[in-house]
Amino acid sequence: MKRSEKLAFLGGFHAFPGGQRDAGDAEVRVENCEDNEKATMIACAARELFEELGVLVARGSETLTKGQRASLLDDLESGRMSFAEMLTHYGLHLDARDFTFAGRWVTPPFSPRRFDTWFFLVQCPQKQEPHITEDGELATGEWTRAVEAYARWERSPILAVPPTLHALKTLSSGLTDDLIERFLSVPQSHREPVRRIEFRPGFICFPVRTPTKPPATHTNAYIIYGSRALVVFDPGSPYEEEQQALAACVDDLRNEGRLVREIILTHLHPDHVGGVNALLEHLGADVKVAAHHLTAEALEGKVRVDRFIEDGDLIELDNDPPIHLRAIHAPGHARGHLCFHEDFRGILITGDNIVGLGSVLIDPPEGNMRDYLDTLERLRSLPNLLVLFGGHGPAIGSPYAKLDEYIKHRLEREGNIMKAVREGAETTREIVERVYTDVSPKAHAMAERAVLAHLEKLEEDNLVSQTSDGRYTANDINPSAS
Ligand SMILES: [Zn+2]
Repeated sequence: MKRSEKLAFLGGFHAFPGGQRDAGDAEVRVENCEDNEKATMIACAARELFEELGVLVARGSETLTKGQRASLLDDLESGRMSFAEMLTHYGLHLDARDFTFAGRWVTPPFSPRRFDTWFFLVQCPQKQEPHITEDGELATGEWTRAVEAYARWERSPILAVPPTLHALKTLSSGLTDDLIERFLSVPQSHREPVRRIEFRPGFICFPVRTPTKPPATHTNAYIIYGSRALVVFDPGSPYEEEQQALAACVDDLRNEGRLVREIILTHLHPDHVGGVNALLEHLGADVKVAAHHLTAEALEGKVRVDRFIEDGDLIELDNDPPIHLRAIHAPGHARGHLCFHEDFRGILITGDNIVGLGSVLIDPPEGNMRDYLDTLERLRSLPNLLVLFGGHGPAIGSPYAKLDEYIKHRLEREGNIMKAVREGAETTREIVERVYTDVSPKAHAMAERAVLAHLEKLEEDNLVSQTSDGRYTANDINPSAS
């Protein structure tokens, strides 16, 4: 199924049916299951499968007609009955033997909020046809063979998370008894969280822990590889074990015969460059560091930059078809900020201009609101974007909706700040108190920096003036029609 692009978490991604456990799942009776946690997860899987696809995997449901199943679904969706009550009421029950455990996946540490996902194989009961229910969470869905789905991911613009891809690849050889045996032998313990996330072939996202701005706890490094070479973006972690994990991932690709061409920096912030020197030391002196010249200037004495990248420059990696990363000078969050656009694949590496988690700070003088809005508009005008790879948080599968949301949010803030100044707020603090009512007081110091960025833009636009003692006033506007 394709998840709706409107969903905040993995919107636009392809996935199997499923969803979050709810409190009632523990109350569902599951026969032939000793383990309470597993029983709850089976109940969750069965309920989600029914809610999302109308498929009811319950003993006793063979005798239900299509109409009866629809009315059960209505009972559930309308809240008239919980899943447990519904099963009991209609004399149905779940049986653990219908749910073959097929692995467990803990999401990477993008954020403090993690998901621990269990996978099950089930037979679609006879005479039941899956169809997407219209609750807005799912965009499309279809039956497809695993081998076909995997091949499609490889050759066309589809986004999926690693366990989905892993399951498809495993199932590609067919659903044999041997395979089910192997699934059954998977220990149900927590496994190491997956570190390397390949949302699209050749584009690895590798979150590393950094001292970054909450709610983010990690910065995404990206490793982009072709058949013979690779580049690493933003190795940001100052912590040794994180640096080693990233280096090990790079080494896996080197061991397959690839050269490390360059380390590339999107911008100067410490949570994006904190691991550059360690990675250089690991890889050897012949690896170059590339960045915008403004980034290089700012990092002088801390990080060596060997090559400057300017707007329009192209980084090319052999592949089929070749990977073309076009640099876009995208100031706003930082003066020398670069984004990278892979036109053919619809991929945009956004750095901190757009992030999958938290908000983007525009902090003058490094940050500039006019530049930032221009950057957002420019990125918005790129054709055929499929996915945004941001500096923090998961990939964004609905690029245009996200860019629109960012632009709208900034313009709304600007409007509210202008209004506050007109109504007599004279300092950044007074403005924050009036405008940032949705933000915790703890974040007000940071909000003042953003207000300052907006005020600088409004001054340039001639809508606001600053008095000699640093207070802001609204300029008289000609009351002509606008
Ligand atoms: Zn940054």
